Amino acid sequence: MTLSWNGKRFDWVNVVYFAWIHAMALLAPWTFTWTGFGALLLLWWLSGSLGIGVTYHRYLTHRGYKMPKPLEYLGTVCGMLASEGGAITWVAMHRLHHAQSDRPGKDLHTPKDGFWWSHIGWILCDLKMDRRQMESRYAPELVADPVHRVLNRAHVFPNILVGLALYAWGGWPLAIWGVFLRLVLVLHTTWFVNSATHTWGYRTYETPEGSRNLWWVGLLAWGEGWQRPRLVGAGRELAGHPRAIGPGPRAGGPAPAEERRAVPHRRGGRGLGIPRRGDPRVLGVDQLLAGHEQRLLGVDGHDVHGRSPAAGRV
Ligand SMILES: [Zn+2]
Repeated sequence: MTLSWNGKRFDWVNVVYFAWIHAMALLAPWTFTWTGFGALLLLWWLSGSLGIGVTYHRYLTHRGYKMPKPLEYLGTVCGMLASEGGAITWVAMHRLHHAQSDRPGKDLHTPKDGFWWSHIGWILCDLKMDRRQMESRYAPELVADPVHRVLNRAHVFPNILVGLALYAWGGWPLAIWGVFLRLVLVLHTTWFVNSATHTWGYRTYETPEGSRNLWWVGLLAWGEGWQRPRLVGAGRELAGHPRAIGPGPRAGGPAPAEERRAVPHRRGGRGLGIPRRGDPRVLGVDQLLAGHEQRLLGVDGHDVHGRSPAAGRV
């Protein structure tokens, strides 16, 4: 008999890996030290906020601002500390999620396929997808960067090195609090963004997908629980609250460029040299996100796998 979940076979490497992390974290009550607690807080912030929130999500996926390359790579290494995979894979999967948000069977982790599936099931199963193809389709600019390619393959090493260093410094108390318990907290808060914020919470605007604002995930996940339901797609999420309905979806094609430019980048900040969407410096990703918007809006009438004029520009 083959064990499966939503028709997908378990990926036993992942099952054993995540079970091991949780089992080690159970030792936390017997290994408490204030130094370990400090290491947990510092590394949680580094991996969950600077790594996943600031770098993987807001910067590498949505290009909400501009970062110098060394900082981009440093932030990526912080993201690798969250044990959520390499940046290329993470970004490609997340853009795919935005493109197909809350479409059962298509969004990788929608609660419409089951709350626990969206929380952890999709992590523990073999999704039967060609990762390389998905990565070059949804994160082409990262695949083209040799440093990111190396980092993407080496994503497990930062945690191993940090774990060994903590063990050498303070034995099991530091290793368990700084790595294992911290990873359980980082992972579940990220996973709650996928499961809980697409299930509970409030919505300021009605959108075709199911993202919601949920205060307790917002606090635990360093702000990522405030999903700002994505009125018109992935890129618009960056602008803080989406505009009120506005001109709305257009039947005949994409929103004109001047309309896209009219949406301010509140996260960017003026005077910092941070490009807005539409800036030629971020044109490749801008086009990619614009393509996602069109697919979300359904204006091109083509299927969400992107066989549409918009996807042709990516
Ligand atoms: Zn996003």
